[in-house]
Amino acid sequence: MPEPAPALSVVVPAYDEQEVLGAFHARLVAAMEGIGRPWEVVYVNDGSKDATLPLLLTLREADPRVAVLNLSRNFGKEIALTAGLDHARATEAVVVIDADLQDPPEVIPDLVAAWAEGFDVVYAQRSVRHGESWMKRTTAAGFYRVMQNLGGRVELPKDTGDFRLMSRRALDALLRLRETHRFMKGLFAWVGFPSRAVLYERAPRAAGTTKWNWWKLWNLSLEGITSFTVGPLKIATYAGLVTAVISLIYGLQVIAKTILFGNPVAGYPSLMAVVLFLGGVQLMTLGIIGEYLGRIFNETKNRPLYLVERHLPSGE
Ligand code: UDP
Ligand code: MG
Repeated sequence: MPEPAPALSVVVPAYDEQEVLGAFHARLVAAMEGIGRPWEVVYVNDGSKDATLPLLLTLREADPRVAVLNLSRNFGKEIALTAGLDHARATEAVVVIDADLQDPPEVIPDLVAAWAEGFDVVYAQRSVRHGESWMKRTTAAGFYRVMQNLGGRVELPKDTGDFRLMSRRALDALLRLRETHRFMKGLFAWVGFPSRAVLYERAPRAAGTTKWNWWKLWNLSLEGITSFTVGPLKIATYAGLVTAVISLIYGLQVIAKTILFGNPVAGYPSLMAVVLFLGGVQLMTLGIIGEYLGRIFNETKNRPLYLVERHLPSGE
């Protein structure tokens, strides 16, 4: 029989994390024991190709507070996280944290303390980002600015990843959002509720390598923008309007010239420039519409977000 549900759940998505999991678990246990409330940790194995799963099973053998959720394949961090949150048994609050020790487990007691003061969402905000290039920092800052200016109604807290604590009611609200395209930062923000930041220093990855690259980051930004704003569609509209007005003025000018000075068949360069420019604008606009259309297509399929190969709950 499972034991009564714990007060706190810690949800950890893990994809090929065999190098750090042992160290992570030790630090997590040390941090959680200081809080003095019953807790569990839900490890989600997101289709790892290394020894992550056997390692998690060993951890669970040794510690009944460990739950293991094994997904049927790699679904990506956002979905793995959702799967873990779906299976968190906590009655009071859940904590979301990365396995790679970039989010120090030692911050969790601070998150819990802020929650005890009455905040539903306590997000850990990075004060310093170690081991991240200038390039990554500036592009991240640029992304937040674009997101905001495109008129997304939800405000994304800056320098905040998924590392956070959520009360049970905030979690239940989040779990009602079942869209396939899951831009978690946006979903977290959409939920609202009284929120607070707790500052911490983000460490470089302890071991292993990040699964992110520039292409993935670009796609994540696209996901964020297209899932939370229709700004680009508006840009398309205005780009169309502006070119139409310019074309009209240019057209009138051409007509006036022809009437006044006759028609000395010139203008091949200007014709070419206009055709190419309009072609470019049209293709870009079609692309923007396509981005949204593709997402509508994916959402209408209504597939389950993930499939579970095995669920071993805590407390057994
Ligand atoms: N992760 C996952 N599925 C994936 C990629 C990553 O569950 O497809 C997990 C990974 O194990 C880690 C967390 O998500 O716990 C963050 O991944 P990573 O460190 O690669 O991302 P970054 O810190 O660079 O944003
Ligand atoms: Mg990381």
